[in-house]
Amino acid sequence: MSIAPRTHLATHEVFNQPLPRERLDLWGADAPLRAAVAEAAPEDAAALAAFAAEIGSPEALDDAERAQRVKPELAIFDRGGRRLDEVRFHPGYHAMMTRGAEAGYAARAWDGRPGGHAAHAAMVYLLSQVEPGVCCPLTMTYAAVPALEAGSPALAATWGARAKVAAYDGRSMPGLDKAAVTIGMAMTEKQGGSDVRANTTRAVPEGEAFRLWGHKWFCSAPMSDAFLTLAYLPEDAGGGLTCFLVPRWTPEGERNPIQLQRLKDKLGNHANASSEIEYHGAWAQIVGEPGRGVNAIIEMVHHTRLDAATAPVGFMRRALDEAAWWARGRTAFQRRLADQPLMEAVLGDLALDWIGSLALVMRVARAFDGTSAQDRAFARIAVAIAKYWTNKRCVGVVYEAMEAMGGVGYVEEAPLAMLYREAPLNSIWEGSGNVICLDVLRTLGRAPEAAQALTAELSARRGEDARYDAALAAAAAGLEKPSEGQARWLVERLALLLQASELMRTGDPAAEPFLATRLAGDWGRTAGTLPEGTDAGALAARI
Ligand SMILES: Cc1cc2nc3c(=O)[nH]c(=O)nc-3n(C[C@H](O)[C@H](O)[C@H](O)COP(=O)(O)OP(=O)(O)OC[C@H]3O[C@@H](n4cnc5c(N)ncnc54)[C@H](O)[C@@H]3O)c2cc1C
Repeated sequence: MSIAPRTHLATHEVFNQPLPRERLDLWGADAPLRAAVAEAAPEDAAALAAFAAEIGSPEALDDAERAQRVKPELAIFDRGGRRLDEVRFHPGYHAMMTRGAEAGYAARAWDGRPGGHAAHAAMVYLLSQVEPGVCCPLTMTYAAVPALEAGSPALAATWGARAKVAAYDGRSMPGLDKAAVTIGMAMTEKQGGSDVRANTTRAVPEGEAFRLWGHKWFCSAPMSDAFLTLAYLPEDAGGGLTCFLVPRWTPEGERNPIQLQRLKDKLGNHANASSEIEYHGAWAQIVGEPGRGVNAIIEMVHHTRLDAATAPVGFMRRALDEAAWWARGRTAFQRRLADQPLMEAVLGDLALDWIGSLALVMRVARAFDGTSAQDRAFARIAVAIAKYWTNKRCVGVVYEAMEAMGGVGYVEEAPLAMLYREAPLNSIWEGSGNVICLDVLRTLGRAPEAAQALTAELSARRGEDARYDAALAAAAAGLEKPSEGQARWLVERLALLLQASELMRTGDPAAEPFLATRLAGDWGRTAGTLPEGTDAGALAARI
């Protein structure tokens, strides 16, 4: 039993400070999540409730905070100057990795039961609220599986099979001697990240395998058991940019020469070690066809994008949850903050972004679970649209939630500072904003089935609301002649339409204010500008 802290102090009485939260109710208090799971992954409801309770427990919150505060350390050499190329983490990091992996964060989508990607997305949303750093290696492990299955049945049977095991083994030892592995990704080089064809890493054939030489400017999770990476083959070996799997240990059980140069000193995402690495003749195996590396790794990128679209929705949810907790427990000018009309307007307006974004990413996850060609086509384009927009909204939502808490929102003990640092990240990796928008244009141009699936989805709600119909007509005009300079405008409109169509489909009461503000334009540039007559209190109460 913990003894309450002293409130009678020598100089003053402590009051009007809501207590810190020792436990989070990430499941029971989140009705939109429960509704989305009931539709998309009903079998998983009990397991997700248990996962939410586990990571919302005081022990997990403490592990997460320590993993974020005690940054990972690079151990390049041992005492005698022999190369280790390892990273040492706080035990809290490993504890959070274990919780995520054992819940099936990386594995559930591949176990053959229905609703796997939706259940996975729900885990991404939940874990992002507590410790986003571990989401990076877990997400890459989840996403490596389809790339291996499409590119190399042999590697799928060895590495892929181990990536699908719902367990975590953080020991530094050969991956194929473990029951469960994690797999990272190393694509980005100094001279070009979005344009991977600018890569200069080279692959030299050696028997059935290859040796890689080159530098990778960003490699998160360098303690992964293996990495998917890109390198150029010489012309006499097929030529072209090719995908490889590089294990951290050679088949002979030696450290593969993947040298860690330094850890990035990042704005946030502190629990996750992002590094610069070099291949000094690192042993590797080919994935997919020679010269078809982008095609091979795009399968991984497609899946990491689902998570990069979903994680910011988790950040929005946690930020709003903290702000609402504060506003409900604090008074200003003799009145509870939560009851003040302007605070209701702010929280109610922000709730629309969270509810709409959650509806959107769970819709996209359902498409990942779908088996029809139309589902696949819709997933391909909708995941990019969702990734663009949920990330763009996230930064502003987290900032407004921070301000709603006043000064305490700005200090490290509130999780708002951590969330604020995380907020821009998912927009940058796996396709930065412009690149994502250009990708949407490319998909519209090259994959007519994706454009048709998107149009079919949006047209299903036509005729139900004049504001929706008008926005749809404007977007349809943009779709006819998409131009690079207008790509952000178009993707933003498509994202808002997809959010609105989901809220309308499910009869969510948020649909009306969402249509009035996000689609009909009665919306200011800051939060709290809902049109007169909106029941902001009812919206805020949903947080
Ligand atoms: C914390 C962190 C961890 C990371 N971890 C990994 C990892 O594990 N593995 C990995 O491979 N990479 C990783 N990355 C790298 C990340 O994927 C790249 O930073 C990202 O792809 C962008 O590449 P770049 O930095 O080279 O920027 P650039 O490609 O130079 O892009 C800069 C800007 O230009 C825009 N732009 C690019 N092309 C166009 C165009 N045609 N028209 C208009 N605008 C354009 C982009 O949208 C972006 O805003 C990580 C990055 C961060 C921040």
